[in-house]
Amino acid sequence: MTNKNKPNRRKFVKLSTAGIGALAFSSFARTSKENPVSGLSPKQNETKLHIMCVGAHPGDPEFGCGGTLARYSDAGHHVSVLYLTRGEAGDPSKSYGESAALRTREAETSCKLLNVKPLFAGQIDANTELNKGRIDDMIKIIQSEKPDILFTHWPLDTHPDHQIAGLLAFNAWARSGQQFQLYYYEVNTGSETMDFEPTDYVDISGVRDKKKSAMFAHKTQNPEEIYEGFFKTMEEFRGLQAGVKAAEGFIHFKVKGERAVLSGLQS
Ligand SMILES: [Zn+2]
Repeated sequence: MTNKNKPNRRKFVKLSTAGIGALAFSSFARTSKENPVSGLSPKQNETKLHIMCVGAHPGDPEFGCGGTLARYSDAGHHVSVLYLTRGEAGDPSKSYGESAALRTREAETSCKLLNVKPLFAGQIDANTELNKGRIDDMIKIIQSEKPDILFTHWPLDTHPDHQIAGLLAFNAWARSGQQFQLYYYEVNTGSETMDFEPTDYVDISGVRDKKKSAMFAHKTQNPEEIYEGFFKTMEEFRGLQAGVKAAEGFIHFKVKGERAVLSGLQS
């Protein structure tokens, strides 16, 4: 590769960040300038986006894309988080009921810190299912929320619950006629998420502390260890790739018409 043909990394990142950022933040900023006081006019509500994030266990959405969710919420968009399970199987010394109660409380605290709405899909930790009934359930929940953008697990993951959460969301997206944008996030990359090459990055440098407080609300999950072992490095590595201090990376699953054609096979 010659120098001339080397991709300009910063330029690429600016363009790819716009994939998520521009859609959300520019429309809201324009509206709030037009309606600087009330913030509740019908016109503003029209341009307010609904962001949804599907995760397998309490903590997955916050660790995977808590910074991006915080940015959307801070900008005035509606954000909801759907937990497929309540983390029932996480602690062998506790009953499923005890763990579910504890982890539901942690999830609710974490969502409050991010100013997002928690939802629970009612599947059971370590025993999640992918079948027609479960896909129908997921479609119903997603349709009731009407998201513009949906984030979920990248399905190539060593944890079966993460695979299933990602595939349920994908099925809901496909069956809904692709009515919302679909983005995949990563968790514990190298140990859980595998083969993840982001197409888009979101700068989370300004909300890193907020994301950290949401992650650390999951006290039963040894958040210090998970943060130091994975997410601190992941945020900084994705930040290096994006030319900022800290970032979250995403794979944007594009609709058929948006896909590039392989060189030499255009016709
Ligand atoms: Zn998980």
